[in-house]
Amino acid sequence: MSEIFDSQSTFADLGLSEDICRGVKDCGFEHPTHIQAKLIPKAVEGHDILGQSKTGTGKTAAFGLPILQRVNHDEPFAGLALVPTRELAIQVTRELQNLGQHTNLKLLAVYGGQKIGIQAAKLEKKPNIIVGTPGRVMDMNNRGLLPYNKVRIAVLDEVDRMLDIGFREDIRRILGQMKHKHQTVFVSATISPEIEKLARQYMQKPLDLTADDAKQLTVDQVTQRFVAVEPWDKRRLLRHLLKQEKPELALVFCRTKITVDRVAEDLKRHGIDVQALHADMHQGKRNSVMKRMRDGKAHVIVASDLAARGIDVDDITLVVNYDIPEDPDIYVHRIGRTARRGRDGRAIAFVTPEQGELLNKVEQLTNVEVEEMVCADFEPGPEPDKVKRARKAEAKAIDQNRESKSRSKVVLPDQQTGQDTTKFPGGIVPTAAPKKRMGGRLRTRRS
Ligand code: ADP
Ligand code: MG
Repeated sequence: MSEIFDSQSTFADLGLSEDICRGVKDCGFEHPTHIQAKLIPKAVEGHDILGQSKTGTGKTAAFGLPILQRVNHDEPFAGLALVPTRELAIQVTRELQNLGQHTNLKLLAVYGGQKIGIQAAKLEKKPNIIVGTPGRVMDMNNRGLLPYNKVRIAVLDEVDRMLDIGFREDIRRILGQMKHKHQTVFVSATISPEIEKLARQYMQKPLDLTADDAKQLTVDQVTQRFVAVEPWDKRRLLRHLLKQEKPELALVFCRTKITVDRVAEDLKRHGIDVQALHADMHQGKRNSVMKRMRDGKAHVIVASDLAARGIDVDDITLVVNYDIPEDPDIYVHRIGRTARRGRDGRAIAFVTPEQGELLNKVEQLTNVEVEEMVCADFEPGPEPDKVKRARKAEAKAIDQNRESKSRSKVVLPDQQTGQDTTKFPGGIVPTAAPKKRMGGRLRTRRS
């Protein structure tokens, strides 16, 4: 537990008012977490801060309590927190509302997918604190409904994710338009050189605060395992695992929205209570899935990385990486959905024969060796004919490609030159020319 909490200090020691301390207590918080103990006093004093700690260590309250402390009820739009997803906007607003229940501050979540008219009416009531996604915040600012010059404390939550999903320009635009004197706080699970640069550019003498002592990125309470599996066995293996592990609530991550839908359909067909969650779903449906999850009414959620960012739901006891991600940071975020607040959780990654390297990347980043889990009573299926044919064709294509390679003059994008990965499906920047398509009939191994 001491890994997360600072049992030496209390919230009253951190410079928070009595109203706020009461709200914190009503939320069941006894001691601050390490990042809270470090960040809150400095933020309350008004410093600009770049804060880092692992997922599930209470970064929301770390930036949220100072906002509640510093903003007065007669100051509209004085607090602005930017978050990467709509779900997170709702969740963070809810948490700050709970923590600030004894203050008389008005909060509002501002995010896309909601009717502009309804949100505009709410903004006209001049809330004190806005929690929003960058796109909708800019939209509301353009309509003159959300004046940046009133902001006294601006926060960027999950900065690493924000940059991942291509909010770079939006963030720069928003921060760049706040020319007046104000406080800026960034929090993130990982800090990259790009984030440091962003901090230097938009902050005044920022304090670098980190709560992670070891180089280990994952929370210790997560038991991590991988299962070696052929692509065609994955769905069956998932059903087998869910039966065997009997998780209270399992979160299954897939790389694409199509896979999310297919895997969810397959589970449903086999009588498993399952919900899908991805960005192409209607916002109302997304909200209802999140609500079921929070109310403890869901058993299995199959999700895209939409749900990997910051989502905090109790009792997620199992995270399955149905598709192990190309980017190891994403793995860390995904497994951070379990074992929250010092509880235990399990994370199982499916690794196909081609994906060993991806597992290595995860191990290098997290500095943890992920052990193999052998499913003794799982019988692997035969290689489907379709795959056999495709592999044969692929081998042939590689041979042909080799022959023609010497003549190829294609200049390829280079990953080191800061490619915008959002332009490519799954964020994978090609490092080699596409394989010869053979009249469009060639299938890759992973399709
Ligand atoms: P992070 O943003 O670092 O991933 P969150 O802010 O989402 O983490 O917090 C994770 C969970 O821990 C939330 O449910 C939050 O309410 C809870 N929490 C935060 N701080 C404390 C604390 N000091 N004591 C108990 N629970 C806490
Ligand atoms: Mg968070």
